[in-house]
Amino acid sequence: RVLVGTKVDESHANWVTAYNMLTGIRVSVSRTNAKLDREVTDEDFNVKQKSTFDIAGNELVPSAKYDFKFKDYAPWVFRDLRARFRLDPADYLMSLTGKYILSELGSPGKSGSFFYFSRDYKYIIKTIHHAEHKFLRKILKEYYEHVKDNPNTLLSQFYGLHRVKVPYGKKIHFVVMNNLFPPHRDIHATFDLKGSTIGRDYKEEDLDKNPRATLKDLNWLRRHRHLELGLQKKRLFLEQLQRDVVLLKRLQIMDYSLLVGIHDLSRGNEENLRDKTLQVFNPGGEKSTDDEPQSVLLRTPSKLENARKARELRQMIRSEKPVPIGQALDKIQDELEEGKGRRGFVFNQDDGGFRATHEDDSPAEEIYYLGVIDCLTHYGMIKKIEHFWKGLTNDRTQISALPPEQYGDRFYNFVEGVTMSAEEVHREAQRRDEE
Ligand code: ATP
Ligand code: CA
Ligand code: CA
Repeated sequence: RVLVGTKVDESHANWVTAYNMLTGIRVSVSRTNAKLDREVTDEDFNVKQKSTFDIAGNELVPSAKYDFKFKDYAPWVFRDLRARFRLDPADYLMSLTGKYILSELGSPGKSGSFFYFSRDYKYIIKTIHHAEHKFLRKILKEYYEHVKDNPNTLLSQFYGLHRVKVPYGKKIHFVVMNNLFPPHRDIHATFDLKGSTIGRDYKEEDLDKNPRATLKDLNWLRRHRHLELGLQKKRLFLEQLQRDVVLLKRLQIMDYSLLVGIHDLSRGNEENLRDKTLQVFNPGGEKSTDDEPQSVLLRTPSKLENARKARELRQMIRSEKPVPIGQALDKIQDELEEGKGRRGFVFNQDDGGFRATHEDDSPAEEIYYLGVIDCLTHYGMIKKIEHFWKGLTNDRTQISALPPEQYGDRFYNFVEGVTMSAEEVHREAQRRDEE
């Protein structure tokens, strides 16, 4: 599911939904961003900010192409979370809504969730089940406190929780979160690891058809893969993972996985970026007809582009109410022009990822992009699904609900067991030979 997507344009089946999602975010988030800063309070966790969009618009909400309702949950909490994750507020809005371009990832998985990338690939919108939505609201306070105490958490970074609804349509809940993978680097292999071996195998023979498929635990083991981290980085990584898993256990969460994207420095970027961009947004390979050159999407923006972004942003915000003060805008523009990125996070320190090291902490040839994803499944939900399947047939199910405590231990132990530098792997092998 990596790096291949379908551009969502007006002919796309989910265009209206995507348009409504982005319009809602644009209006609601810029309204929140325009307010004067203050501390997060307990009440902020329960806030629901409703907006009703229609063709006419009114003094609070600009006109939109379609009639729909939008809800922004705990907007002030997510504003604070975005700041803690060091997102630039203007950049966030521009990436998601600068122009209505998203790309949708293949067919939805087992869970039925849809995934959309922002046009610059930095953010992912994932539609979630109502149960996951309710659950995130329930644990938001604890998640927030965890992020406060653990700025380097490996857990999915949630930037917003929203809902859209069109007249007579279903309610669609979604989150905005970080794309773990960088826009500017080829990911040569992707693994989704749970620490379980049942059903955790991507058919090797299908790899020819889909060389960028997400592989699983058994594929990892078959390749004798390791997260090659020397003493220092290994400690950092495992300590953080341990803290994150403690939270997941406490919140009775399971079914999450460690997503690992591997960039092999000795291979570098094979395809030229322009081709890759066309592949991403135009799987048929036809020439793009958009007026804006599509290759903009995968380059780091130049000063010129940043200035253009800032200009677009001014225009965009000008069409909103309340209008933010000019000073704030100038500050945003300055920051944009300096090209301030997200720096200073432990697991993003090496070109956005975490570079492999030898046992003595000298750099090795891979960069890992990692994080714990799909962490909104409560144990109670799994039990229900399992019950449902068991009711239908006796052996169809490969879901075997493990209590969260055991799930977390198995998960952590698996990852710990495969985290070792090349030298350590070598020594282990020698030791085994001698036995
Ligand atoms: P299921 O419940 O069937 O496992 P799901 O619909 O809940 O699936 P996820 O497990 O969240 O989906 O993600 C499915 C895949 O999408 C992952 O294996 C990964 O390839 C990709 N993906 C998900 N989240 C991210 C992310 N934050 N960054 C990059 N890729 C992601
Ligand atoms: Ca999953
Ligand atoms: Ca899931």
